[in-house]
Amino acid sequence: MHDSTAWGCSNCGLIASDGQALLVDTQFTLDATRTLLSAVAETVPGTEITTVVNSHGNGDHTWGNQLLPEAEIVTSASSAAHLCHEMGPEELARLCAQGDTSPVAAYAAQHFGAFDFSGVEVTGPTRTFDGRLEIKVGTTLVELIDLGPGHSAGDVAVHVPEDGIVFTGDALFNGAHMVTWSSSFSGCVAACDMLLATGAETFVPGHGRITYRPGVREIRDRLECIGQAAAAHAAAGIPLEAAARLVCSEYAGDWAHPERLFTAVAAAYQEAGVPGAEDMFSRVAGMAQLANACSAGTTIISRWVRSPSGA
Ligand SMILES: [Zn+2]
Repeated sequence: MHDSTAWGCSNCGLIASDGQALLVDTQFTLDATRTLLSAVAETVPGTEITTVVNSHGNGDHTWGNQLLPEAEIVTSASSAAHLCHEMGPEELARLCAQGDTSPVAAYAAQHFGAFDFSGVEVTGPTRTFDGRLEIKVGTTLVELIDLGPGHSAGDVAVHVPEDGIVFTGDALFNGAHMVTWSSSFSGCVAACDMLLATGAETFVPGHGRITYRPGVREIRDRLECIGQAAAAHAAAGIPLEAAARLVCSEYAGDWAHPERLFTAVAAAYQEAGVPGAEDMFSRVAGMAQLANACSAGTTIISRWVRSPSGA
């Protein structure tokens, strides 16, 4: 079993009913997706994957799409529109190959260098939607919810009402800090509220272990505190990089990848009308810089404590 809080290691979901199946996301590499599809064939033999839902456009959720050429591939219209801004497999592999020539290349090599992207042809959706979309899989009703911008430009959650379960995509990271690629950090908090509003009890995050309503509430409350702290730093005129270090010192806690807080602060700054680190490459560069500050260990002392409402 891999550590699904690590970069590139994501959770997929399968909803199977009466010979049909809906797959939530594919994997980062063709090999990993083939392993996933073998596990599906073993678990539900004779079942055809008729639909793939991409929770968003990041490669760790979509770069195996080409192995399901017969399936309808669904995502939100906003996520599909944003695909052209994603770093492609060749670009990412080139960055990793640069080794330690720059902090951002070293960070990429450390976290993505072990993945083999050969053969990946980025394959987009065949169907998009806005708002909500209901799909029947066999006799099971599945509801797709466009969560709007937050982690990405338009994350999609997959709700199975009869089972009280939601596959959240990267609207939820459990046990690790979330990455924010969009320009809306408040959207990350709002997405948690939308997940809870389904009434479901069980939540499968894009990364990390399955969690339940109290776990989602705790994550939501922590994100809200992070957003408020970042907005206060923006209002005080503190430069983005310094604010990211301050937020990291307060909210790193024991979650993996505290350097991802840079992306949270960058999104909150954009929301506050302060420009900087708007594109994916700049956000990775900011994370690389913050990771170095974290590993130096001189400024990062976490003061995050579990909120009473998360108990
Ligand atoms: Zn992901």
